[in-house]
Amino acid sequence: MKITCQEAAIISNKKEYREASFKEKLMLRFHLFRCALCSGFVKKNAQLSALFSRASLRYLSEEEKDEMKKKMFSH
Ligand SMILES: [Zn+2]
Repeated sequence: MKITCQEAAIISNKKEYREASFKEKLMLRFHLFRCALCSGFVKKNAQLSALFSRASLRYLSEEEKDEMKKKMFSH
């Protein structure tokens, strides 16, 4: 039940949109437990989502948000 860092990133993005299956979430959790890089990624992702929900950023388009994420997570 091993997934790569790239797969973990894909699932964590899905999770954000509530599209990840139970099995995927489980695999993601398992991966995050073992991988410091990805648990950092998810923390950043959560911070970013919180940031987006603030009023100051509500004028950003979905495209601009995606662009910001890409920049932040290109490791
Ligand atoms: Zn990883």
